Amino acid sequence: MDASPPGDGPRLQPIAYPAISGNVTETVDAVVIGSGAGGAVVAKELAEGGLSVVVIEEGAYFAREDYADGTPWELLGKLYREGGLTVALGFPFVPIPLGKAVGGTTVVNSGTCFRPPDRVLHDWERRWGIEGIDTVTLEPIFRRVEEVISVQPAPWEIMGKNAEVFDRGVKALGYHGQPIHRNIDGCRGCGVCAYGCPSDAKRAMHLSYLPRAAAHGARIYACCRARRVLVEDGRAVGVEADILDAAGDEIRGRLRVRAAVVVLAAGAIHTPALLMANGLALDSGQVGRNLRIHPSVGVSAAFEEETYSWRGMLQSYYVDDLQESHGVLLEVTSLLPGTSAASAQEVGPKLKEALALSRYLASVGLFVSDSSKGHILRGLGRDWWTSPTILYGLGQDDTDRLLRGIALAAEVFLAAGAVAVFTGIRGLAPVTDRQSLRRLQKFSLRAEQLTPAGFHPMGTCRMGGDPAVSVVGPYGEAHAVRNLFVADASVFPSCVGVNPQVTIMAFATRTAFHILERGG
Ligand SMILES: Cc1cc2nc3c(=O)[nH]c(=O)nc-3n(C[C@H](O)[C@H](O)[C@H](O)COP(=O)(O)OP(=O)(O)OC[C@H]3O[C@@H](n4cnc5c(N)ncnc54)[C@H](O)[C@@H]3O)c2cc1C
Repeated sequence: MDASPPGDGPRLQPIAYPAISGNVTETVDAVVIGSGAGGAVVAKELAEGGLSVVVIEEGAYFAREDYADGTPWELLGKLYREGGLTVALGFPFVPIPLGKAVGGTTVVNSGTCFRPPDRVLHDWERRWGIEGIDTVTLEPIFRRVEEVISVQPAPWEIMGKNAEVFDRGVKALGYHGQPIHRNIDGCRGCGVCAYGCPSDAKRAMHLSYLPRAAAHGARIYACCRARRVLVEDGRAVGVEADILDAAGDEIRGRLRVRAAVVVLAAGAIHTPALLMANGLALDSGQVGRNLRIHPSVGVSAAFEEETYSWRGMLQSYYVDDLQESHGVLLEVTSLLPGTSAASAQEVGPKLKEALALSRYLASVGLFVSDSSKGHILRGLGRDWWTSPTILYGLGQDDTDRLLRGIALAAEVFLAAGAVAVFTGIRGLAPVTDRQSLRRLQKFSLRAEQLTPAGFHPMGTCRMGGDPAVSVVGPYGEAHAVRNLFVADASVFPSCVGVNPQVTIMAFATRTAFHILERGG
């Protein structure tokens, strides 16, 4: 690990209570709800394009010093919605962790960057009528995004032994693996990206796009929760938001922003909830439906050698041999021993034994491009839209493909010299040799035996040319409400099949350019 002192990224000065309270009014060209991968990008591009912009973000603003202060559990409480315990109901339940901060989920994400696969863009263009998203047309947009967030391959020196052992197995079997591209500058490989980058190395939105937006005059409101989208004569004309105290518990005032353009970028769970609560763009019946989560599971393995898998990058190396055929992507991901204790599925002395093994473990995560669907429903209470109900059922086809990925991970670990592979499948003994690997490959897996997570929710306000089956048009404008745009993970017509932040940013850039081209 690099022992040089941490870097110091640009600082923002968002407007928040107690500096504001009571009734606050703004009149601007564009108001953006949410400051994550979608919202921050739109804000920067519109502000740079000469529009006056207000960004409204429910979460608070955190800087590097704030992450040093607290255990991982405390940081979950600070940086994540509902302390990271947002969950989709189904069999099994699936955690859907969501960031809530200036910078959105990018503040806590792993920094992995992929462009979307060509075949996915092709499908969206052909099947959904979204023009101009072929790889050639999008090339300058991807380059623009990657330049702003500083995308580069993970350097081997700080990837850690977790990646080294996996690469050893991959090479022994002749599979294809390589370092992941990440949005980093000066990364020290400390592996705690999910609790905020303590080096300011991960170029999350609060360190990349938002400072540029602010430099061009965008005004960023933190701890402000948008409640109403104002619509007159079928056109969006502004937003009303609650000014919250720093804890987000008490309403301290009301922010009213009049704007010619309203951009919703509250994420794939809350953007549809806001539309539903406001009774907007519901004609197609698709708002809140078609939720994809790119479900992931983890596989770990014990070695005779010490691995200290948490020393090094959190997410470092990928294997894509099953990507084209099965939509399965393996990503070497380490876990902090304390936070991964729950996945040991043990208590008491057995949990102690499992934790003592930590320094001999290596781990990998795998994602499947899901065809299973979930949806967002009204929740309980007057302000249900702040915490909507999420349903998701992991189907058998996706479960089978997850099994393919788990078996591939087990095969690689064995080839790397693992003495036991823990598949994460409830009720299945560890894989220790070729024979138990074959048993795993032929196993009849049921979804309830897995403990998946959904780090990449998307698809709940899908984009398309046909208003009968999509919520927003090819550039993100709601079919049913003029000047109301959606620019976050909600707009994807299907699972993008890779970690989505770069695709979200590229689509948000495209939407912003469209708004500018038509003159705001
Ligand atoms: C632990 C973790 C690791 C991840 N790792 C990666 C990775 O390595 N690579 C990758 O590509 N993706 C990763 N992701 C996913 C990625 O970060 C998200 O897909 C992406 O940030 C989503 O962008 P978004 O704009 O749709 O929403 P978000 O980034 O979630 O932003 C939405 C923002 O809107 C705010 N908001 C919601 N409601 C309101 C309201 N009513 N008023 C005002 N503000 C509101 C929220 O507080 C939030 O800040 C990860 C996710 C998690 C949880």
